[in-house]
Amino acid sequence: MAAVEATKPLQDRVAIITGASRGIGRAVAHHVASLGAKVVLNYTSSSSSSHANLLAAEINNPRSAPSSHHLRAVSFQADVSDPAHVVALFDHAEQTFQTQPHILIHVAGVVDSKYPTLSNTAVEDFDSTFNVNTRGTFLCCREAANRLVRGGGGRIICFSSSLVGALRPGYSAYAASKAAVETMIKILAKELKGTGITANCVAPGPIATDMFFAGKTEEIIQRVIDECPLSRLGETKDVSPIVGFLASDAGEWINGQVIRANGGYV
Ligand code: NAP
Repeated sequence: MAAVEATKPLQDRVAIITGASRGIGRAVAHHVASLGAKVVLNYTSSSSSSHANLLAAEINNPRSAPSSHHLRAVSFQADVSDPAHVVALFDHAEQTFQTQPHILIHVAGVVDSKYPTLSNTAVEDFDSTFNVNTRGTFLCCREAANRLVRGGGGRIICFSSSLVGALRPGYSAYAASKAAVETMIKILAKELKGTGITANCVAPGPIATDMFFAGKTEEIIQRVIDECPLSRLGETKDVSPIVGFLASDAGEWINGQVIRANGGYV
């Protein structure tokens, strides 16, 4: 007798994941796909298209089911700070899977890897940080608020940072750009009353990704590790299950919250 496959928590729900080519977004995309979601993998730089395409291929042809012909993942290049690109990203999700998306997981973000004090922050660097982190979140959330499925299971999950709490020197623009994200999401959750869509932020502490290592010496990295009660950096797999839970029906009662996932860093 053929085994009946159990229904997965996100079975056939369409999830748009921004910043899915690398780091946390990539791990999150893999995880929500393993929970049954069909995924749209966003990235921005042309050099990352091969990473995103490879991830889509892995999800479409898992080793456990090599004969599956159903499309479960596509990649899509879009700059989240560009309004037309964000519209195109949602259009692509709808056209590919022929349904409204249930879930936006907005992970894309940047940090100024010079880690300047406020007094040394160039206007261009301040603007580019806010453009991607804050304006990008606004644009993606606005599109999601208008286009996600209503009536249950709609989820908006954005990314802040535990630096909003840790307030380390060198991160004034970055932490401020994320503080704005937290405020937007808390208000958005209230404005979505009646839609069944929840809105939350995940705010990781230090996670071993390209973003974390950029511009840091071994000594600085060790200093960060020493500040972590669990004596290690976070890994992307420490974050993805939290996002998966928030995206699921079981996560519905968490709404308008900022979930700090940092091993006790702050
Ligand atoms: P990462 O490894 O540097 O990856 C960043 C991702 O964002 C990449 O997929 C990148 O795409 C994408 N991206 C950047 N600018 C974009 C834009 N304008 N439009 C679309 N996509 C864009 O970063 P990460 O460490 O995984 O960080 C993910 C999120 O977690 C960020 O929001 C970050 O602020 C937050 N966070 C990270 C840490 C940490 O320690 N790592 C801690 C707290 C919070 P390309 O590959 O095309 O460049």
